[in-house]
Amino acid sequence: MFRSDLFKGKRILVTGGGTGLGKAMARRFMELGAELHICGRREGVLKETAAELAAETGGRIHTHPCDIRVAGAVDEMITEIWQHGPLDGLVNNAAGNFIARTEDLSPRGFDAIANIVLHGSFYVTQAVGKRWIAGKRGGSIISIVTTWVWTGSAFVVPSAMSKAGIAAMTQSLAVEWGPKGIRLNAIAPGPFPTEGMTKRLAPTEELERRMIGAIPMRRVGKLPELANLAAYLMSEEAGYITGEVIAIDGGQWLNGAGGFGALTELTDSDWQDIRAAIEATNARDKAQRTV
Ligand code: NAP
Repeated sequence: MFRSDLFKGKRILVTGGGTGLGKAMARRFMELGAELHICGRREGVLKETAAELAAETGGRIHTHPCDIRVAGAVDEMITEIWQHGPLDGLVNNAAGNFIARTEDLSPRGFDAIANIVLHGSFYVTQAVGKRWIAGKRGGSIISIVTTWVWTGSAFVVPSAMSKAGIAAMTQSLAVEWGPKGIRLNAIAPGPFPTEGMTKRLAPTEELERRMIGAIPMRRVGKLPELANLAAYLMSEEAGYITGEVIAIDGGQWLNGAGGFGALTELTDSDWQDIRAAIEATNARDKAQRTV
């Protein structure tokens, strides 16, 4: 589908590139010749992924333990990357999310998501964009959002609000930075099985079964499908596409199934079980973090 040298000589940063969709996109870009940078908070996960992708593709990949919630840490990471050579592309992929009744959320719970998704994505975008502008270079930015940017979504309000903010950033900067040769687009995936998605958003088999039943294509997405869309949007072949949010969801959101509305049927005890499962996942991830 793509020329094998599509990204030869290009440098791309994928935030959250150590796992899930970020890793799948990093793999595709490397297969097509890009030099990759990936960041995340768990250094061990990044190093493992880098070793795996370098062995698979024969390409070059650099790891950056960085918490994108911290603007200073983001600036240091981007400065370090620029010392290797300027980026040509950025994928804002890092995010966090969990299902919860909004009345149960603490301000800390809200901030835990908004600080990564809304603030962190802005810090990285601005740190990269201002260097492109200062260096009179163009570039391509893809942000991974959700179809909730169009519909909102019950039970994941901090994520829905933050992702809608990224969609607004994509459209705003497409206009502001278009004359400087910088394109911004966003991808709104439906369900793609990843650890983040399964453990925090569909923590029971029954919830997963119901979700798939409501997708017109009757299946979840395949990671290479998402990675191919990202490769197209990232490439110069898509040079006239900017400011777009493109769904890749098997028709899910058009079927009114993009959200978690059906969760209104859950009981208090169901919610207690869900919270316990999510807290166990968070505790395990925290134990692995280095930053
Ligand atoms: P995932 O595997 O949990 O990926 C999230 C990544 O973000 C992890 O590598 C994580 O690494 C990183 N991250 C989280 N907080 C960070 C922080 N503060 N600083 C730096 N990195 C951070 O989940 P995924 O399913 O692949 O999700 C990837 C993207 O796709 C997200 O934007 C998500 O909203 C979007 N999405 C996914 C689906 C789906 O079905 N999978 C559907 C719609 C949208 P550390 O924990 O090591 O920091």
